[in-house]
Amino acid sequence: MNGKKKTIHIISHTHWDREWYLPYEKHHYLLIEFMDQLLDTLEKDPQFKSFHLDGQTIILDDYLEVRPDMKDKIKQFIDEERIHIGPWYVLQDEFLTSSESNIRNLQYGMKDAKKWGNISKIGYFPDSFGNMGQAPQILHQAGIKHAAFGRGVKPTGFNNLVSEADSYESPYSEMRWQAPNGSEVTGILFANWYCNGNEIPEDKEAAKKYWDGHIEAMERYAASDHLLMLNGCDHQPVQTNLSAAIQTAEELYPDYEFIHSNFNQYIQALDEQLTVPELKEVKGELRSQHTDGWGTLVNTASSRVYLKQMNQEVQTLLEKEVEPLATFSYLLGEDDDRDILEYAWKTLMQNHPHDSICGCSVDEVHREMVTRFEKSKYMAESYKQATMKKLGAKIDTTIFNKYGKEPIPFVVFNTTGLGKTGVVTVEIDFMRAYFADGAHRQSVEAFDLDHYILVDADGNEYDYHLEDTAVVFDYDLPKHQFRQPYLAKRAKVSFEAKDIPLFSHSTFALVKAAKKEREKQQIASSKNTLENKQVRVEINTNGSLTIIDKKTGRTFSNLLIYENTGDIGNEYMYREANDDSPITTENETAQIQLIENSSFRATYLITHQFEIPESAEALLEKEQKQLVWFTSRKAKRSKKTVLFTMQTKVSLEKHSTGVNVDVVYDNNAKDHRLRVLFPTNIQSDVHYADAIFEVAKRNNRPAGEWTNPDYSQHQQAFVSMHDSNQGITITNKGLNEYEVLRDEANTIAMTLLRAVGELGDWGYFPTPEAQCLGQQTASFKIYPHLSGTTNEQVYQQAYQYVVPWSTLQIPVQDGEVASKHQYLSYQAKDNLVQTSLKVATNKEDLMIRFFNMTNKESSIEIKEQENIATIYESNVLEEKVNECIDNMQVYVKQFEIKSIGIIPRRK
Ligand SMILES: [Zn+2]
Repeated sequence: MNGKKKTIHIISHTHWDREWYLPYEKHHYLLIEFMDQLLDTLEKDPQFKSFHLDGQTIILDDYLEVRPDMKDKIKQFIDEERIHIGPWYVLQDEFLTSSESNIRNLQYGMKDAKKWGNISKIGYFPDSFGNMGQAPQILHQAGIKHAAFGRGVKPTGFNNLVSEADSYESPYSEMRWQAPNGSEVTGILFANWYCNGNEIPEDKEAAKKYWDGHIEAMERYAASDHLLMLNGCDHQPVQTNLSAAIQTAEELYPDYEFIHSNFNQYIQALDEQLTVPELKEVKGELRSQHTDGWGTLVNTASSRVYLKQMNQEVQTLLEKEVEPLATFSYLLGEDDDRDILEYAWKTLMQNHPHDSICGCSVDEVHREMVTRFEKSKYMAESYKQATMKKLGAKIDTTIFNKYGKEPIPFVVFNTTGLGKTGVVTVEIDFMRAYFADGAHRQSVEAFDLDHYILVDADGNEYDYHLEDTAVVFDYDLPKHQFRQPYLAKRAKVSFEAKDIPLFSHSTFALVKAAKKEREKQQIASSKNTLENKQVRVEINTNGSLTIIDKKTGRTFSNLLIYENTGDIGNEYMYREANDDSPITTENETAQIQLIENSSFRATYLITHQFEIPESAEALLEKEQKQLVWFTSRKAKRSKKTVLFTMQTKVSLEKHSTGVNVDVVYDNNAKDHRLRVLFPTNIQSDVHYADAIFEVAKRNNRPAGEWTNPDYSQHQQAFVSMHDSNQGITITNKGLNEYEVLRDEANTIAMTLLRAVGELGDWGYFPTPEAQCLGQQTASFKIYPHLSGTTNEQVYQQAYQYVVPWSTLQIPVQDGEVASKHQYLSYQAKDNLVQTSLKVATNKEDLMIRFFNMTNKESSIEIKEQENIATIYESNVLEEKVNECIDNMQVYVKQFEIKSIGIIPRRK
């Protein structure tokens, strides 16, 4: 010590879980009370200097929805820097929301905070269940140089040495946190949690006891003379007598300086004192790697899987379908609608707080979330449909008159940043009879669907498959007329589209013409086998798969075995039932049935029926009610069993190297976990998982202190294992949890369902709906890495798997846009993943974003085209960071997130 007084920064805050152990509106009611009291305190007590509003701007929206008249008062306190807001819109779970969702959360949060005036300059993750590795890069690009978090790193204190090699431990609560690309922020760990200055006593005697312990605890970890004291906790009301309590402290401890501080003031003081290189550097993802593994909350990734699936669907709809389509339309001179997008995004993001998307709240909360997902989805779908109609109306389809009679054209959009091949399913109305014209059901029913061939704009013929043929009621809602009901002869048409360029459309049509007879090799050419030019898939009698690379003979065996275990944990944590041994389908006999077979796709339906315990034994409920901590529970699984039936569709397409799997089952059991196993038989110490703007390299085995038998982890689109000559990648839709088993085969286990009956944490909160009874689904795809294919190429396929085609039936018409058209074209190296294409939020430019998956430098060249004037380098906030680039080429450094602004030349 240099004789200078240490400063204790008391920062008042409340950690506002928007919904959790109470339904949203009950927490909302408390929020109104809380805000009323805060505004009152700030007004009456000039000594109550400032308040940190939990880093999320949505608190203000929620309050003003009920008390709109308080707007001016709030504005005044924000202007006076007594209320600190932003930078986020909500306090999201970083790993269960997409890369783009994490960015949008920051964009909309900062946009709203800017409207008010001041933005708090700290990347705030107080309660995140682990932190994404790229956070320092994202924050750095947004001009934020500090981040505060409550989990992820183990603080060891001064007496504990931290090994140089260890990236996840720090002796101090302050550290340097580095993203994979080298971007850095100063990380501040709440080593004594974010409640360490809660309820400071005013009474001298009580204060003495309180401060002695608290000061010692802070000094144990603080690297500087500025000690951080967070005055608040979860849903904590304002401490209205804080000024008096600070006065007491000043009298008791003259050797310390006490200030009612805020984060801006604290980080400024910290920066002035700390010379950064002294601090320990932590790198990348902070997932509490160095703990016993019992408190990491990672199994929230498998709590209420249905929420994760809905989230994946709506995120994809917004970022990979609606936004690119709106960009296409914008390039053709149409207006985009940013307000609609902001509404849909914000409604979706209201489901992204850590207690919401993690599925660790009471049932009422998650029921309301389902409605929010639907609200966002319906708005996004309406905008998508309107946008596709505008685009469709411009496309010339007269060419199809050349190929046959009565053409029924339709357009297929590839909204991904990668050329695409695969089976397209489009809904076609072969005939419509409007009520206004006196529709006759008989004539619609009698409409003949035969004699059509499917052609593209060049006249090439395609095999196709018709299904769900029916007469249906539907209606048009014309823009300037009353609604128009009709009956339609409708069917689903499936075919394989090949090499549809990135960000483009291609037009096809059914026309009446004579079919050319061609020899067709079917995909299922022998029993229980699927085969194309590159891979052969054999279905074994137990329903598992053997996948063979035909060129090299490399084989993956025993893939797709189901595993069931008892779970006596809670929404946060998986805890295997006592004396449990996993039930698997390895020794079961499955029913195997070929249900679709054509030249472009074949599908088998595999049915498994096996007995599993109906629930945990009755002891579990007793232990829950008696608040027995889940690690100490003694409950086993019930002796009573139920018949569990799983239906698995396995299909292979003509030009795909991966195997599609779609599972449907009725969950009729409680307190259990269901997983699917993929033994990789690859010798490796590490595997790779899709995370936030990062393909994260993770260890197969946990650190020494990890005592939890389970080592589950988060994933976004995929998990992958490979060595120098073979590999396997499993991509998924909304299945966020996997584990690499500590067995000889390095088996990847992916969680399909976790059914539990209580919330967990600080009390007993029963959650019968977290048992997820009733019909459940799961979709994933297994990609063997074929010879001659790079890992990055497989990852690109995995990313594309989750994005559906967008299709629309259109009339035969003249149009200004060709039947095949690419809206934007570029050349990007394989190690670059495109994550977003949209119209910028606050200006007229387009924004496209990539990230580099590897440590190799890379580049993108945007192709010159008529409707593009120039491009520039941007950042995550859509700001220009570099001047226009003449040669249209942008370099991307290792692990860099690169946003590019495109200035269009619009019609
Ligand atoms: Zn929280």
